Amino acid sequence: MIAGAGAMGCRYGGALFEAGHEVLLLDGWAEHVAAINAAGLRVTDEAGTRTLPVRAALFPAAADPFDLLIVFTKATATATVAAAAAGAIGPSTLLLTLQNGLGNVEALRAYAPDDRLLAGVSMYGTELVGPAHITALGSGETLFGPLAPSGKDAAELVGSALTAAGIPTRVTADAMGVIWAKVAFNCVMNTVCSIGSIPVSALARYDDFDALAMSILDEIAAVALAEGVTVDTAAALGVMKAQFDPSASGSHLASMLQDLMNGRRTEIAQLNGAIAARAAEHGIDAPGNALIARLIGLLEATWPCRVNSLHPDRPQ
Ligand code: NAD
Repeated sequence: MIAGAGAMGCRYGGALFEAGHEVLLLDGWAEHVAAINAAGLRVTDEAGTRTLPVRAALFPAAADPFDLLIVFTKATATATVAAAAAGAIGPSTLLLTLQNGLGNVEALRAYAPDDRLLAGVSMYGTELVGPAHITALGSGETLFGPLAPSGKDAAELVGSALTAAGIPTRVTADAMGVIWAKVAFNCVMNTVCSIGSIPVSALARYDDFDALAMSILDEIAAVALAEGVTVDTAAALGVMKAQFDPSASGSHLASMLQDLMNGRRTEIAQLNGAIAARAAEHGIDAPGNALIARLIGLLEATWPCRVNSLHPDRPQ
């Protein structure tokens, strides 16, 4: 079962369905669910567009346990969605989150012990074009692991199923390490590109990027360390700068910028907002992340008022 069948949920659910698994896409968007059930899920990738007759349903889940529940909503809705999917969680159900941000693992711990809880990241980029239609372009690794060492076999089982379904997957013993590394990436790249309203490749024009990024990253590393996780800030900076090359990121727009442009809530509270909140709990100063979180909050609140012309009152 996929709980939260947006762009990524449909990509993973669609791939597992094509590999022969029984899949149910659970979501809250009635038009999307109805369109999938009426005419199938349309998946556009490098090979063209195909239609998959996968089943979909609206929340909540029926009391019918699944082998695997993949939670793929935005991080803002993890707790709500997990509660609405609880009917699908039985005593042997495995839970997997590949969502961005902090707090997803903590929200899911209420529903499964650590050896049945798998967490990590996905490097795919996927877009929900409209109801029942995704574009699943590009390649990228899926990397996750169990929250307890005794969950290794379960992680390997799910990893093999995903790889066999055409989603290259690697299992790691350091689930929280890979999550924090992606959080560090998103806390810089998503927010800076959103505040600048620029594609990722435009960052190459800014000479002071390293200092800006490190002012955010150093605070993240301090909070991570207080929680027993090491964030390699030099490596994180290197991964970011590799994206400046237009052949790596092209004209890609950060997902946070896309959310702002679409008038949707961003995941800022699970990114820099979470860093600022956790820093306060640990007695660590994180003014950079607190400021970034407030600036994104400002953009969320004021986006429709943005000035796009020097003379906004004159007809264009
Ligand atoms: P999404 O925005 O495509 O979908 C999230 C939810 O919003 C779904 O339940 C979907 O049905 C609903 N939704 C979307 N458009 C809607 C509309 N117009 N009306 C009503 N409901 C609508 O989310 P996503 O991009 O799949 O992201 C899920 C998680 O995966 C997030 O944590 C994200 O950060 C992470 N992630 C995304 C990508 C990506 O490329 N999309 C890559 C890696 C990680």
